[in-house]
Parts: sequence; structure tokens; C-alpha cells
Amino acid sequence: MLILTPRLKAIANSIKGFDTMADIGSDHAYLPIYLARNGQVKKAIATDVNRGPVEISKDRIRNNEVQEKVEVRHGNGLEPIRQGESEAIVIAGMGGMLIRDILDNGVNVAKSAKMLILQPMRDSDKVRKWLIEKGFDIIDEELVKEQDRIYEILWAEPSGEGKKAEGLMLVGDKIIQKKHPLAAEFVSKKADEMEKVIAAMKDMDTEKCRERREECKMLLNFYREVLRCVQ
Ligand code: SAM
Repeated sequence: MLILTPRLKAIANSIKGFDTMADIGSDHAYLPIYLARNGQVKKAIATDVNRGPVEISKDRIRNNEVQEKVEVRHGNGLEPIRQGESEAIVIAGMGGMLIRDILDNGVNVAKSAKMLILQPMRDSDKVRKWLIEKGFDIIDEELVKEQDRIYEILWAEPSGEGKKAEGLMLVGDKIIQKKHPLAAEFVSKKADEMEKVIAAMKDMDTEKCRERREECKMLLNFYREVLRCVQ
């Protein structure tokens, strides 16, 4: 039996009512295999830019007897997926800037999906800004804890015209609005990181350092303000 980590399980649980899905940068193909075995999708595509994960995934798919339902494709970002081919597209476990670039390079494929499920490991603000500016609605966000780490997951639907992204977008509006049970811990960690950076730059006096310190102070104030909202 394939047991998913809480992060991948939260993603899997949200894939309901879709016939097809693609997992971009799937690595081990756990998610597509799990969804196929559970009957949650009729067809899943696992992609990866690296040959190693593609070959390992092929074996794992055979061992789990889901060859009829799960296909592995080798390729960069959304390139292996045709427009309209996958109703749900997952891009998880990568940095936010890489996720943004993958979406940007394959915007027509991204727009042809009914749902994007994105799990940036960092720089989630870059993903949120891209989504808003390119005409996607962020319909929900979730925080999932594994050991000491809290992961962010975003769900977005294509909505039409893009608009200017306002504000810092460092924490999801949905997370703040629903006072997510992990929000205070998540934001406190971010504030602590900023305090450490500011402390480490205490005696550095170049113009660049002064600018960075001021930026960090501004971010620290932002996190403290968010913390007051979610407590
Ligand atoms: N998505 C899985 C998860 O969340 O557990 C695996 C994440 S793993 C850390 C990142 C995977 O993305 C690696 O297997 C890597 O080869 C793949 N990857 C990195 N850049 C990619 C790109 N531009 N296109 C497709 N796959 C990529």
C-alpha cells in the first residue's frame, strides 16, 4: 500500500471530480500512482525533467499495476502536456520562482486546466503575484505540517483577465481570513527568520547591507502585523 506524506495527502485529497491530472516534476510518481489506485482519476501523467526519476517512476508504476492509468513523460515544465489534456495540474516541492517560470512558459496549458494545485517550498509570494497578474483566482490555501516544517499549498482556477497584484502577498489571504490553526506558527517562524537576518547584519555598514536591513525590518513588521490578525 502506498502511504503519502501529509503534504502529498492534502494535495491528493483535493483531487476529486477530475478525470485527468498531471503531476509536473513528479519525481517518484507517488501522487499519480496513489490517485490511480484510489480511482480518483481516470488518467494521470507524471512528468520530470530528469531521466532518473522518469525511469524509476516507470518501474514503480508497473509494480503498482497502474500502467493503464498512469503515463510517465520526460520533459521540462508543462512542455510534455498538451492544452486541455489535464484538468488538474500539480506542481509541488519546488521553489516558487521555478513554479512561476514553469507556469509562465506554459501559460496556455496552465490556462486550459480547471485547477492548478501549487506547493512552493519558498517564495510563495512570487507564485501568488503571477497567478493574480495572469488571470487566475486563488480559491483556497492550506498549511500542512510535517515534522518541524510547515508547507503552503495553493489552489487556483483560471478566471479571465489578469489584474495588478497589490501588496506583499507573503502570506495567503485565505490563510489569514480563515485564521488557519497553523498560521500563527507559520508567521512566527517567518518573523524569527527576519529577526535573525537583521541581527546578523547588525554591524555591517555598506549601503547594500543598510538597504537589506531596512527591507528586512519592513518584512518583520509585516509578519508581526499578520500575526496579530491570526492570533
Ligand atoms: N513533486 C514531488 C513532491 O512534491 O514530492 C517531487 C518534488 S522534487 C523535490 C522536485 C522534482 O522536480 C525533481 O524530481 C526534479 O527533477 C523535478 N524538476 C525540477 N525542475 C523541473 C522542471 N523544470 N520540469 C519538470 N520537472 C522538474
